Amino acid sequence: MKKITSTLLAGFVMLSGTGVSAAAGSDIRLLINGQAVQTDIPLQMVKGRALAPVRTVAEHLGASVKWDEEKKTVFITKGNQKANVANTYANDTNEIKLVINGKEVKSDVSPAIIGGRTMVPVRTIAEELGSTVEWNEAKHTVWIANRIVNPAASDFHGQGMITFSYDDGLDSFYDRALPLHEKFGMPATLNVIAGRIKDGANTEFLEASQIKDAYDRGVEIGSHAYSHYDPLTSNNDGDLEFELAKSKEILLGIVPKVDSLSIPFSDYDNRVREVAKKYYKAVRVFEHQQNNLPPDDPYWLHTAIAVTNEMTFDQIKLRIDEAVKNKKWCIIMLHGIDPDAGDLYEIKPELLEQILEYVNDLGRDKILPVNTIDGLTIATQKRGK
Ligand SMILES: [Zn+2]
Repeated sequence: MKKITSTLLAGFVMLSGTGVSAAAGSDIRLLINGQAVQTDIPLQMVKGRALAPVRTVAEHLGASVKWDEEKKTVFITKGNQKANVANTYANDTNEIKLVINGKEVKSDVSPAIIGGRTMVPVRTIAEELGSTVEWNEAKHTVWIANRIVNPAASDFHGQGMITFSYDDGLDSFYDRALPLHEKFGMPATLNVIAGRIKDGANTEFLEASQIKDAYDRGVEIGSHAYSHYDPLTSNNDGDLEFELAKSKEILLGIVPKVDSLSIPFSDYDNRVREVAKKYYKAVRVFEHQQNNLPPDDPYWLHTAIAVTNEMTFDQIKLRIDEAVKNKKWCIIMLHGIDPDAGDLYEIKPELLEQILEYVNDLGRDKILPVNTIDGLTIATQKRGK
């Protein structure tokens, strides 16, 4: 015990000797899945590596932490880790070791005890747990991202809501939008044209495995009908039934839940609505309006803005600010995300990132990001329906 204490102390002195102090590191912010995370000991910069309390980081990433004082080892486990390596693991050095999911992980900067907390390089632990890490120099922020955070009903207290609703099931959602949504922990709804899922056909549309993966990563999968050829209002009764029932059936073969529908071309009437009610809990159309909270009609959810390549960030910001101010639900309709944004309904990833960052900076207490079905459920529950 005495030996350990003196070693830890030596570690601390050594860190102090490099000119690192708590005050110097205290302005480094830590964001995990878009949320600011407070640590009891401030992050420290050591040889270009940000060190953070291991327990805070690991637990925010869904891992559990065990500190073995005798072995001077931090054991981190995530998921169904079977073998209890803690029993067999030996540390015959004086350094603090990091064992993640049974494997010893080394980093160029060693873990250290600072202020009674085991501090580890953030990048090492986050990457080992499958997250991405970014250092933002301008904002002095360590940014860890790994998952979309869908809110709980208790996160809603009457503030505005926002939903990013992507139509058509385009592959750019998977490649460009999803990583950005994960970076900011921001929910999304992906409305898939079920008849255009063609595995291996190399089209602009998503394959089933990508839809499943997006769902597993926290994205709501909605239906955008089966064919998207003719407006639904022009379908005869049989075709209309097929469009709405078949698309749901196909999607349910890929993911376990499909509760919302977005209307192709926003071409909608009461007849379509009645059929939609048989299969879905929510329907999104386009009328350039904000929704009340709770919405007046779950089968007539309005889109506040359809984003095009002719739009500026300020135009979109205006609608978001409006929802914050008036405590409304702002549903934003998006399509492709492409660096060229050659198509009217395509926007550049930079613009999407700017929008997501803006919403993230506003904070969940001002505007709660939700997918379509969660937004409806949460807003309705709150009014004691
Ligand atoms: Zn569409």
